[in-house]
Amino acid sequence: MSTKHMTEPLVIAIDGPAGAGKSTVAQMLARLLGLAYVDSGATYRAAALKVLESGVSPEDEEEVIRVVVSAEIGFVPRQPQPQVFLDGKDVTTKIRALEVTRAASRVSRLPVVRQKLIALQRSLVKHPGVVMEGRDIGTVVFPGAPLKIFLKADPKERARRRVRQNEEQGRPSTLNDTLSEIARRDQRDAERQASPLVAAEDATIIDTTDLTAKEVVERILELARKKGLPVPR
Ligand code: C5P
Repeated sequence: MSTKHMTEPLVIAIDGPAGAGKSTVAQMLARLLGLAYVDSGATYRAAALKVLESGVSPEDEEEVIRVVVSAEIGFVPRQPQPQVFLDGKDVTTKIRALEVTRAASRVSRLPVVRQKLIALQRSLVKHPGVVMEGRDIGTVVFPGAPLKIFLKADPKERARRRVRQNEEQGRPSTLNDTLSEIARRDQRDAERQASPLVAAEDATIIDTTDLTAKEVVERILELARKKGLPVPR
């Protein structure tokens, strides 16, 4: 028998609020370690897009559940950007629209929606492993992950990063609007009953306000080495 796949795939969990640097750091780390990169937020965004395209109000719980349960959501962890599908159509770009962002944090409050998307996220773990980022990866999706990181940063800095990112993606935004959008989203994500945004007890918290993405990745690699995980020197 081949011994190649006798060990469990490695899961590195990276959680934190919007703009804390999760995607950049998780992508860099995945590339360096030869692991897949999974952006769990994209699955909530695809569900939210389905709700909007169905003409359902994100506040109408019964209808939201009905359309999301019937949605076929696909996630292909490709570098540099994973591909996301909704009912067979590529929605990778569409799910980044501001209205989808807003609807995602509403739709994600519902336990039935979370259950479906968590099952999808768990199914994406393949050998040799994944770096998965989100809000509840270390607490709910993979509570047994051997390395859990919780990134945080000053809200102003997070808003600045988001404005820069929006600009790069051709969606100009103002700092003030982005700051209040981030504050609203943080509040919804932290206050919801199902999987609220909190650091796992065994997560290492890194404040990224004054760090570059490369510095954050270096710290995570150092932690991984200390835990004896298979990472290059
Ligand atoms: O990370 P991203 O901004 O793409 O996430 C969009 C929304 O999806 C978040 O505001 C949050 O409400 C939800 N989400 C979640 N759990 C995750 C990832 C995202 O509830 N693991």
